[in-house]
Amino acid sequence: MTANLLDYDLEGLAAFCERLGEKRFRAVQLFRWIHQKGASSFDEMTDLAKSLREKLGVTSNVKALDVISQHISSDGTIKWLFDVGDSNAVETVFIPEEDRGTLCISSQAGCAVGCRFCSTGHQGFSRNLKAGEIISQLWFAEHFLRKHMGCDDRVITNVVMMGMGEPLQNYSELVPALRVMLDDHGYGLSRRRVTVSTSGVVPMMDRLGQDCPAALAVSLHAPNDALRDNLVPLNRKYPIAELMQACQRYLDYAPRDFITFEYCMLNGVNDQIEHAQQLIALVRQYSKGKVWCKFNLIPFNPFPASGLTRSSAGQIQIFSKLLSDAGIVTTIRKTRGEDIDAACGQLAGDVKDRTDVGERIARQRTVMLTPMKVFNKVVKET
Ligand code: SAH
Ligand code: SF4
Repeated sequence: MTANLLDYDLEGLAAFCERLGEKRFRAVQLFRWIHQKGASSFDEMTDLAKSLREKLGVTSNVKALDVISQHISSDGTIKWLFDVGDSNAVETVFIPEEDRGTLCISSQAGCAVGCRFCSTGHQGFSRNLKAGEIISQLWFAEHFLRKHMGCDDRVITNVVMMGMGEPLQNYSELVPALRVMLDDHGYGLSRRRVTVSTSGVVPMMDRLGQDCPAALAVSLHAPNDALRDNLVPLNRKYPIAELMQACQRYLDYAPRDFITFEYCMLNGVNDQIEHAQQLIALVRQYSKGKVWCKFNLIPFNPFPASGLTRSSAGQIQIFSKLLSDAGIVTTIRKTRGEDIDAACGQLAGDVKDRTDVGERIARQRTVMLTPMKVFNKVVKET
């Protein structure tokens, strides 16, 4: 079977080179060609011996996911939909800001957790992505953007595992992908610039702390178990007290870090004054006099099947002020790319809903790929 070299972290690639009868250090060269230069054909790798390139040619490839469509928002946000086979698609979003470029990556096709406010959750679970399919999103976006922005430097400075799927329910594929992101011979991103977002898979939070302590975001969404059981069904397995203790243990592996709590603002459901008060009490219970977390309030991105609505801007402000006044660092997430539904499983959901998915994908492939002229203009202006 042909090996996809995108599936390997540097250690895995070194072991692969050894199996080919090559020295392990060849893996560094190969890894740099793939991830730093964006090479996908062995012919390009001119400083590798011809005999090695031939061996690689028969045993392996560098196979990225195919792009189904590309949407560019008026605010410069770009969303790609990737084909993962069997009529499934995952999405990746690039969010340019003045001082950084953030890529939001998917870890699964669909998701088994089934949160009430999440359109990916409503689609159900299709399958885990392979490490290569996870890293492929960064590989594609980074080299695509570099090429079309005419820039040799790094464009993506931050990665957030906040696309489709629960990354900690795909742990064995997530970790090699994270290692490629962090490796100096790969994307060289610092640990704090790679964020894993989880709905609270407690045992895997512990393993992540030991194996690869990236920045951690925890999707809290409710201050008490009764409400969280209802919004995030995984809470019935790992209730809030266990989750909070796992957060404390995580901070032992990543001292000086903070846990970011994500809190999706749902009108009349979790956005009342009493909810803010309960959150403040919860944070204090674990603070031991230190600041250990911050809050990121996310305006709910509505979709019809949820039956939920977004809290008003005023309510979000009141909620935010209550937390801030209690000494909790709180930010309100800016909604980006709303004109292209660049949030949380929306476009991929669109594809899944159609009966003749194959036809829709084919149509999108031809129609939606944005003319480069428009793309260049938008990207240069941001
Ligand atoms: N499964 C992981 C990561 C993917 S979801 C997790 O749940 O953390 C990334 C973030 O988007 C999570 O905080 C999630 O709760 C939030 N989210 C999901 N659906 C949303 C919606 N419709 N509006 C706003 N935020 C949403
Ligand atoms: Fe899955 Fe995260 Fe969506 Fe919940 S919010 S259903 S865990 S992707």
